[in-house]
Amino acid sequence: MHRIRAVCAVLVFALVAIFFVPMVVFNITGMSPEFPVVTIYDQGATTQTESTAYTVDDLLYGMGITLMGHDRVNYPLDFPIYNGMSVRINREFSFYITINDGPPVQITASSGITVEDALVQAQAENHVTLLYPNDLTREITPNETLNFLTWHSREFNETAILPFETIENRTGAMRYGQTHLRRRGTDGEHETTTMVIYIGGYEDSRVIVSENILVEPVDAIFSIGTAPMGALTDPTDPDFRYVRRVRMHATAYCACFICTGRNPEDALFGITASGRRVEHGIVAVDRTVFPLGTRFYVQGYGFAEAADVGGAIRGYSIDLFMYCHQEALRFGRRDIYVWVLH
Ligand SMILES: [Zn+2]
Repeated sequence: MHRIRAVCAVLVFALVAIFFVPMVVFNITGMSPEFPVVTIYDQGATTQTESTAYTVDDLLYGMGITLMGHDRVNYPLDFPIYNGMSVRINREFSFYITINDGPPVQITASSGITVEDALVQAQAENHVTLLYPNDLTREITPNETLNFLTWHSREFNETAILPFETIENRTGAMRYGQTHLRRRGTDGEHETTTMVIYIGGYEDSRVIVSENILVEPVDAIFSIGTAPMGALTDPTDPDFRYVRRVRMHATAYCACFICTGRNPEDALFGITASGRRVEHGIVAVDRTVFPLGTRFYVQGYGFAEAADVGGAIRGYSIDLFMYCHQEALRFGRRDIYVWVLH
């Protein structure tokens, strides 16, 4: 008995819920009016009415409001009317689109559409990418003309020569003025991919998309001789030219008082008999054997020029200038070969 009574209570509650909840939902503010009050916005006019209609369609029909092809309502037409409802009608209107300032095309749409909506649609219809240089989010006003600009790009490749560099290696193993091509240079090739952007049908800008070296250039290598004319640094070189080779008694000296009898304060300190300042390569000889200005290649010393004399330098003797007294002492005295170059 109790169980049956409980089941009945649940059924009654369910029925109440099914019938009364929608009534409450659709009559939120339904205190006094018998029928729902609906507000209609249409072409700038606002109308409030108490309606006996069941659906939006009935409501508009009853008020003599007709809809054109692109007119749009903010509810489905079969939506039930409820109290406090706001029905908004976006009326059809026209505007014009031109592309790249071409002929205008009339577009009919429901009001409230934005420039972006129109642009997206025009892109889809014309299969192009379009730009609008101003605000895209604003609503289009009736009869205005929107000029869209096409955007497209094109890529092209260009190849250019990458010229080879020339490397000059200076070498004392070759005579001055002599050059030898050690490696032939070859040009490389360079490729650039450029994107040209056209806006409104005209070139707007260019962007380098990629750069590639297709062929690396190969440097040319030249050897440039630096050895004095008629001589090479290595007397064993078959090209080494000399007048004669002599055996000489060699000593060494520096600019100091012990070696020259002159102090740094003296006017002629460091000045040779030929008037030249001492440096590596200056040697003293017996000028009756080798006139001043004679050029030599001295074993263990290098290229030299007779520019000085000395009291003890007689016959086949040669005194080699060195920068430091210790170095001169270390050299001591020894018999060496001297190649007379001219
Ligand atoms: Zn000295």
